[in-house]
Amino acid sequence: MKLEKSIELYTRGKRHLVGAVNSPVRAFKSVGGVPIFIERAKGSKIYDVDGNEYIDFVLSYGPMILGHRNGVVEKTIKKYMKNGYTFGASTKGEIIMAEMVCDAFPGMDKVRFVNSGTEAVLSAIRLARAYTGKNKIIKFAGCYHGHSDALLVAAGSGLATLSIPGSKGVPDEAVKNTLIAEFNNIKSVENHIRKGGIAAVIIEPIAGNMGVIQPDKKFIKELRELTKDNDVLLIADEVMTGFRSQYGGAQELLGFEADITCLGKVVGGGFPVGAYGARNEIMEMVSPLGDMYQAGTLSGNPIAMACGIATLKELKKQNPYKDFEKTAAFLEREMKSAAKKNGIDLQVNRFGSMINPFFTKTRVVDFKTAQTSDTKKFKTFFWKMMENGVFLPPSQFESWFLGTAMTKRDIYKVRSAIQIAMKAVADKFNK
Ligand SMILES: *Cc1c(COP(=O)(O)O)cnc(C)c1O
Repeated sequence: MKLEKSIELYTRGKRHLVGAVNSPVRAFKSVGGVPIFIERAKGSKIYDVDGNEYIDFVLSYGPMILGHRNGVVEKTIKKYMKNGYTFGASTKGEIIMAEMVCDAFPGMDKVRFVNSGTEAVLSAIRLARAYTGKNKIIKFAGCYHGHSDALLVAAGSGLATLSIPGSKGVPDEAVKNTLIAEFNNIKSVENHIRKGGIAAVIIEPIAGNMGVIQPDKKFIKELRELTKDNDVLLIADEVMTGFRSQYGGAQELLGFEADITCLGKVVGGGFPVGAYGARNEIMEMVSPLGDMYQAGTLSGNPIAMACGIATLKELKKQNPYKDFEKTAAFLEREMKSAAKKNGIDLQVNRFGSMINPFFTKTRVVDFKTAQTSDTKKFKTFFWKMMENGVFLPPSQFESWFLGTAMTKRDIYKVRSAIQIAMKAVADKFNK
């Protein structure tokens, strides 16, 4: 596999960029080798600077659900570019986007647009504290909610991969109000709530940042009841799952309604957009209606809104969710049969259009069991998949993302790559 130009750019990039990247997941640290540099992408394919072509299962970690440079979306962006890039004043696009988002999530009467998932979540936490007058929050081990101080504990993929137990530079005071519970374990939430002072529980309803972890339906139902009964807000971090698991996110798929919902990734269709929303009485706390301050120079950026609107419209029209389910089921079957044939212990977790394998005998239901995966096997598997034209997230603890631009032919190609990669894992490890 030719990677000379990537290696050259990596060497050059390291001088003035930290690790030659602007986000640590792109550093390929856990799979070894150098990060590949991308030149362009179209539809289901992505091309690196050495001219290697890959079927893209990273999809920019989710946003590119329609594939790259979808025709309708691109036309819309170009049209809006002509009007100017940002004004520091309101535009009609923000209203249309708000109407679409609130229509998709019945728990949202009002929404505030921001520039990233991190910003959406940190604002949602501030809002929950403002609304309840309480300070403590509960998060689940292995769930990632962006890189704000209070949430950078037991935070999944990036941190799991790098084995950092949190982060330097986060003062103890910043996380002293953050309590950790176990995913799929209602007792662990109850124990915290019993002590009182809890403003909110925040959850990735379908966990995607420790690999994919399916929620137990009963657990979600109990979590909703428990929080409601104790005047604790439930925050659904749907930055990954919003418009991806279903048009109405994990909440539609799992049949529950959160008090505050956070969005990001797909909602911007590839431009930096995040959002948080809730029913009126909660959102009316937010400035300028209320006293919870939160602002942004580029929030609701007109080009980003145009891209988001076009993406959501197209998603609604295509309604790809049943097809995603079928494709994911196919990939699960293929990975399992290839693993079995080669005598490899494998779990495949999936939910909607998110899927990934774990190299372990243990059923993966939470952060602890996710950690049982043999990451060395993943590393071998990953590079064989790359060599055979499949771009996967370079970490055991990231979800793969399906997109509407993937064709039957692409998926068959992926199947062949899986067979080759599983055999390579067996050749290396089953001696
Ligand atoms: C990606 C992600 C975030 C952070 O979003 P950024 O746009 O990277 O800041 C927060 N929560 C979840 C569940 C995510 O997947």
